[in-house]
Amino acid sequence: MYEFTYHQAASLDDAARLVGSLPEGKLVAGGMTLIPTLKQRLAKPSALVDLGALKDLVGIKVAGGTVTIGAMTTHFAVSTSADVKKAIPALAHLASHIGDPAVRNRGTIGGSISNNDPAADYPSAVMALNATIVTNKRRIAADDFFKGMFETALGADEIVTAVSFPIPEKAAYMKFPNPASRYAIVGTFVAKTGSNVRVGVTGAGPVVFRWKDAEAALGKSWNADALKSLSVKADGLNSDIHASSEYRAHLVGVMARRAVAKAG
Ligand SMILES: Cc1cc2nc3c(=O)[nH]c(=O)nc-3n(C[C@H](O)[C@H](O)[C@H](O)COP(=O)(O)OP(=O)(O)OC[C@H]3O[C@@H](n4cnc5c(N)ncnc54)[C@H](O)[C@@H]3O)c2cc1C
Repeated sequence: MYEFTYHQAASLDDAARLVGSLPEGKLVAGGMTLIPTLKQRLAKPSALVDLGALKDLVGIKVAGGTVTIGAMTTHFAVSTSADVKKAIPALAHLASHIGDPAVRNRGTIGGSISNNDPAADYPSAVMALNATIVTNKRRIAADDFFKGMFETALGADEIVTAVSFPIPEKAAYMKFPNPASRYAIVGTFVAKTGSNVRVGVTGAGPVVFRWKDAEAALGKSWNADALKSLSVKADGLNSDIHASSEYRAHLVGVMARRAVAKAG
């Protein structure tokens, strides 16, 4: 038996008030993770607070060298946005390779990063592009947001309202997808602005991480060959029926080199 009450938030304040006051209340955005989790009885919230009516949280703006994407913007909208394709084509490419059409039409960027699945695509872009996560309470730097597997810096009644991505000079994302779900077995996002290079790796470990040795090497020489002698340690990486930790460690290097070559 499902036993929860359903609330459609009328405003951001209303959503924060509801989710903060209802014991074990949970926000629902696209429902692409939350609903299967409920169906499998892996979560049992007492109340769902639906963000679906908050149209202020939908949309994409480009201004001041930044692409800002509202939390309730779907993966489909990001993947097809002419503005995103022009400013950060790697981000549109990433969004176009999330799941399947149904997932892309329902799933949202706010839901994806708040859920912080270790194999989700967006966290790698958030890290590599040094994005800022905007909530109803504050602005959080990418490096401070992703805390652990399915764990973020968000407080109980904190709601992601937008994600701001500085526009890089060059960027690319390459993933080795799980052939069934399309989640990343390993995904590597590389971004360069001047001599500042950031490399975000998803799927490989319990939580997205930056590959700092690669960043240093690419900062000196922006070339896939600069990564040839580097590797990440398999210790502590994920190991499951899809891939061993050693295989994932190998894939990080392969995906990073391909991403640099693609970014040009
Ligand atoms: C078959 C399948 C394949 C998938 N493949 C991929 C893939 O290849 N790559 C990938 O990255 N993802 C994949 N996903 C996940 C999908 O991309 C969704 O983005 C993701 O499930 C969460 O987004 P959502 O909007 O559906 O959030 P929901 O499921 O509604 O919510 C997820 C969690 O985030 C919280 N939350 C939602 N919005 C906010 C907010 N604004 N502020 C604070 N907390 C919030 C909710 O309370 C909940 O805990 C897949 C999902 C499915 C079902």
